[in-house]
Amino acid sequence: MAVVAQPKENPWEVALRQFHRAADNLPLKRGIREFLAYPHRELTVNFPVQMDDGSVRMFTGYRVHHSTVLGPTKGGIRYSLRVDLDEVRALAMLMSWKCALMHLPYGGAKGGVACDPGQLSRGELEHLTRRYATEISIIIAPDGDIPAPDVGTNDQIMAWIMDTYSMHRGHSVPAVVTGKPISIGGSAGRREATGRGVMIVAREAARIHGIPFAGSRVVVQGFGNVGSVAAYLMHDQGCRIVAVSDVSGGIYNPAGLDPRAALRHMQQTGRVAGLPGAESVSNDELLELPCDFLVPAAIEGQITQANAARIQAKIVVEGANGPTTPEADEILADRGILLVPDILANAGGVTVSYFEWVQDLQALFWSEDEINERLERIMVHAFNGVVELAREREVELRTAALIYAVKRVADALLIRGIYP
Ligand code: NAD
Repeated sequence: MAVVAQPKENPWEVALRQFHRAADNLPLKRGIREFLAYPHRELTVNFPVQMDDGSVRMFTGYRVHHSTVLGPTKGGIRYSLRVDLDEVRALAMLMSWKCALMHLPYGGAKGGVACDPGQLSRGELEHLTRRYATEISIIIAPDGDIPAPDVGTNDQIMAWIMDTYSMHRGHSVPAVVTGKPISIGGSAGRREATGRGVMIVAREAARIHGIPFAGSRVVVQGFGNVGSVAAYLMHDQGCRIVAVSDVSGGIYNPAGLDPRAALRHMQQTGRVAGLPGAESVSNDELLELPCDFLVPAAIEGQITQANAARIQAKIVVEGANGPTTPEADEILADRGILLVPDILANAGGVTVSYFEWVQDLQALFWSEDEINERLERIMVHAFNGVVELAREREVELRTAALIYAVKRVADALLIRGIYP
């Protein structure tokens, strides 16, 4: 049985350390810095779900709003056994910086339920989702806080949340969540948006690093929404996808894998392992394979002090949120490995979520080409801005991205003032 990579650090402590590193580079007044280090509001809900066998089980869920300074809050909902308040806090803070960096009119939020969605029947998943949606409906709203999918959730779960919220209101409110099916107000291009953004910044990183994108070797950890789409879109650009993995382990072929065949295999068998023509590797081994691009696209805390010295990639593109610890950041930087940070690399998802929300509010929908063109422009612009600031300040891309984002939120906060 393959070894499952486990996060090794508290994600909230990591998020705070990253924030303070950026804040050290900004002339922030002490109170402002402290304000931004706190989540604005945190909701914990314990709720019952009737299971298929008639029993009742209690579940715990969360919704955290980190910052409401730049607008309504935005952020995904995660279903995983590892969900706890510190993980949700960390992810909410990252969303504040991500939205600020991308110039989206949003603050940051995140939610989650501690559960293993793979162990629940469809009916149980629907009951859990509708009850959780009802519990958090006191703090979500199309003009207040707009959830989206994340690890363990998908467009069907967004549809149930949208329906539940709408039933309570007595009319349809499509703009209360993004990442919905297109038939009920979802956006063309949203499903692929995060992976597409990863592909775009990987291509731009190859350009500034002076390596040809076509023919480059790519390793992807996590073969869900982000990882699988990034893999096949990079494959379409001529990259060689040499290894991919899911929670139960990975597959490797130095000559290259067909990511769409891996996706079909996963849809049929529930895992990538066993794809003909590939050898198996553990998630830990996969991270250390020889490659040009390493795309961690699973969960937090995967590249750490323990393995950073053995990473062989030239460029790390963070599809996941928080996959690299601050200690590992330093080791990678010392070794000349370029890292494109999460708040930039995976921002394609929230950017097209923003497009979806705008389309829902206007009840006027755009074509997929229009969505992809706008996404391309915004991603390239953000990437170039971060690279320029990194050169100017002589810092790594993560610190530059955070400096830019934190400054935007801090400036807005100063203009709004401290109420009352
Ligand atoms: P997903 O549930 O669709 O896929 C997650 C993948 O990671 C699966 O293949 C799963 O098997 C694998 N995985 C889970 N735990 C693992 C572990 N311990 N070790 C190795 N692999 C593991 O989730 P997703 O939506 O693709 O999200 C992946 C990452 O990208 C998360 O960090 C998420 O916060 C981030 N992200 C997602 C979006 C989005 O639009 N979905 C946007 C921005 C960032």
